[in-house]
Amino acid sequence: MEYELAVIGGGAAGYSAAIYAVRAGIKTLILEKGMGGGLTNVSPKIENYPGFESISGLDLMEKMKQHADKYADIHFNEEVKKIEKSKEKFTITTDRETYHIKAIILCMGTDYRKLNIPGEKELTGKGVSYCATCDGFFFKGKKVAVVGGGNTALIEAIFLKQIGCEEVFVIHRRDQLRAEKVYEDEAIKNGVQIVFNSYVESINGQQKIEYLEIHDIKTNKKSKFHVDGVFVSIGEDPQNKLAKELGVKLDERGFIITDRQMRTNIKGVYAAGDITGGLRQVVTACAEGAIAALSSTEVLGKKYPY
Ligand code: NAP
Repeated sequence: MEYELAVIGGGAAGYSAAIYAVRAGIKTLILEKGMGGGLTNVSPKIENYPGFESISGLDLMEKMKQHADKYADIHFNEEVKKIEKSKEKFTITTDRETYHIKAIILCMGTDYRKLNIPGEKELTGKGVSYCATCDGFFFKGKKVAVVGGGNTALIEAIFLKQIGCEEVFVIHRRDQLRAEKVYEDEAIKNGVQIVFNSYVESINGQQKIEYLEIHDIKTNKKSKFHVDGVFVSIGEDPQNKLAKELGVKLDERGFIITDRQMRTNIKGVYAAGDITGGLRQVVTACAEGAIAALSSTEVLGKKYPY
């Protein structure tokens, strides 16, 4: 099959882009390095995607995957290694094949941000985790900390309490959460304890975590905080390597800059979803994917009425 459009990344943005593209008559391929779904897969509960009062991220992504699969070809476990621009087309090299394609939508999303402190790397998988849905079960009846003050940190903390962790602490560096009030209230109602004004300076232990070293910036005192597990939930960084190498313009945080039609600075290259920064919600990822797909008709010689 000769494809006209390659969507790189099979998360909400990529699936939505593919559905809209194929319905606009574009031969579309999704290239996805894993099994698809992106970080939404690990969201325990999504309650703000219209039409679904409450659904797990995994279930929602499975539904989107099945929907996109009805339209586009999806190549799972095929990783894009390089994108190069030639005169008329782009050459996409994956770990399996080479494709020559006229338009590309970059939907590579984000990855977990790291604390980059002593002990984090060494104890990952031995008590340090980035995903409560994935690893929370191992800490039933135990004492855990979640680092961060955003929506994700609070949702993870509530989830950990609800699955039966004995004690759950949120450790936040400021005196005020970034999370929406609704999550703060629910966390407190569930017995989550919030430690404000504190940095985790190191994670300590040999084969498993023994304690965190915490710096209280108000008292300027350091203390040992004994926990069995720590969930790092301090945001995400854009997966922008391919974009950077291609010469796509990024903002100061590394997110792709687009115009309202999701065009990047390179003709024929569009971007959608979390990799463009902003609100980073499933609903905005889907919307951006749809816009990017229809915008790509402009370089594919197709007419779309918008
Ligand atoms: P976020 O909103 O960017 O929050 C990251 C948190 O981690 C902030 O509180 C930040 O502190 C803290 N932090 C960052 N770097 C740190 C470091 N090195 N050490 C200690 N703390 C650090 O990230 P998020 O919670 O993952 O959310 C990402 C996006 O998804 C947001 O736009 C969020 O609204 C959205 N989201 C929405 C929902 C929903 O249901 N509506 C659910 C989940 C996520 P500061 O506050 O001091 O900066």
